Amino acid sequence: MPDLTRGEFLGLGAALAAGLGAGCASDLGEAGARQAAAASVPELVVVNARVITIDDGLPEAEAFAVQDGRFLAVGRSAEIRALAAAGRTEVIDAAGMTVTPGFIDAHSHPSGAGLAEIRNVNCNLGSIARIQVALRERAARTPKGEWIIGFMYDDTRLEEGRPLNRRDLDEVVPDHPVVVGHRGGHTGVYNALAFRLAGVTKSTPDPDGGRFYHDDDGELSGKVAERARGVFSRLLPGGSTRDERQAGIARISQLMCAAGLTSVHQTGTSVDDLVAYQDAAAAGELRFRAYLLPRGGLYDHLTAAGLRTGFGDPLVRIGAVKFSADGSASERTMRMSTPYVGRPDDFGILTMSQEEIHEAVEQAHRNGWQIGIHANGDVTIDMVLNAYERVQELWPRPDPRHRIEHCSLVNPDLIRRIRAAGVIPTPFYTYAHYHGDKWVEYGPEKMEWMFAHRSLLDAGITVGPASDFMPGPYEPMMALQSLVTRKDEKGRVWGPSQRITIEEALRVCTVNGAFASFEEHLKGSITPGKLADFVLLGADPRATDPDRLKEIPVVRTVLGGRTVHEA
Ligand SMILES: [Zn+2]
Repeated sequence: MPDLTRGEFLGLGAALAAGLGAGCASDLGEAGARQAAAASVPELVVVNARVITIDDGLPEAEAFAVQDGRFLAVGRSAEIRALAAAGRTEVIDAAGMTVTPGFIDAHSHPSGAGLAEIRNVNCNLGSIARIQVALRERAARTPKGEWIIGFMYDDTRLEEGRPLNRRDLDEVVPDHPVVVGHRGGHTGVYNALAFRLAGVTKSTPDPDGGRFYHDDDGELSGKVAERARGVFSRLLPGGSTRDERQAGIARISQLMCAAGLTSVHQTGTSVDDLVAYQDAAAAGELRFRAYLLPRGGLYDHLTAAGLRTGFGDPLVRIGAVKFSADGSASERTMRMSTPYVGRPDDFGILTMSQEEIHEAVEQAHRNGWQIGIHANGDVTIDMVLNAYERVQELWPRPDPRHRIEHCSLVNPDLIRRIRAAGVIPTPFYTYAHYHGDKWVEYGPEKMEWMFAHRSLLDAGITVGPASDFMPGPYEPMMALQSLVTRKDEKGRVWGPSQRITIEEALRVCTVNGAFASFEEHLKGSITPGKLADFVLLGADPRATDPDRLKEIPVVRTVLGGRTVHEA
């Protein structure tokens, strides 16, 4: 470690300048600040750690102290231990474990997943046999005739090597209608009773924009896609209760913080979601900081009330308004300038016209909102940039940090424009690893320009970290592996030119996430004055085989000095 004076090393000056907490010192004035300093007894110190601070001022440390939920000092173990007061300070001896800032997921959909965890059956189980057991168990304690709903199913990761079908479901649950939804959100598998109730037979024609799949023998296979799922919607049980929604947020925040996430950007937030986050926070059950990106109705209500991005507090805050302009990367419907492999006439789908994008961006920009538009393909990214460039030209705002959600397929010209406009892209952080089978339809050449973390960072762009959970896994350790290796589970490497280093990946998943919500002064690094959000890891990611990064255990997650997860 570099030889620094004690003051420099501890960074106490910065802590005092930052006011030792949420504005108390600045409210109290000079005398108050001195008083606060005199009473500086940390509630928590962590010693004997390998601290990766993500702070260029002091990149490595052994220890730090926390007071009033913020980092008070960072430095050497002996010096930090000396700040502890017997009986008043909790001391965590990290025994050589690695500590990083809490991880941030800047594009995720936890509220729906949380509710599903409360009400439905998680089918992310790796085999048809295990899915059958889970469904049968649920059916055994559910009155006959009521729906059994599965979620998080993925056809490409089952031990049996084939997708789930109607017969698998009929075998174990004949007397309840069943649907098992795909984690991608666009298809589901239904049982015979569900088809019977919906009046769908093997000769029912496919509706526009939807499909009932058939076996080789012409029977319904069980799989139903897109709009064909509409006939089942009216049969499914009605809306959730306020209590269920609160419990859903509590549950999903428990799962996500166990993976090391301390901040999550909830994309596409509804009025019900906003209430649920506030309820969970008030009850002390919210275990990550939520940056809520409203859509449609909630956005209109907030704008009418004069609210905009940034309103709230560090636990629950209003984020960017969210729009969506094209199809999906993993489900192969995003709009591109070149076609999909094997489908020469298929360039993907746009869901907004250029005119609509201009209108939406103009209104939101002029009302002071940060904007996040889902745009995967290069055609769509160009259209969104047109709109961002136009509003900054006509109504310049300092540092609006407009975002391109996903921003999957780029090229040098788009990258230049993203940089010039100060736009934040949020490419998927686990997709290269997790969704390997999907990339075949893009081909190796295109994959050199998809989730282009390397090129975006090289251009000086602040790339945000994004899972798009449920479609993508949110685990930050898998994100590190995916970003560093670009290798899928079968060992194929997708777009090797876009690999980044472990140090870069750690920055993307921490401080860059904070920047995407205008909160880099509050979080993203272990720096005196910032919120004490951090994780203890079972191994140092910098010293771990890149192909095994996702196995690193998250031993403890701390939010604002409070332990929210302990393995
Ligand atoms: Zn999304």
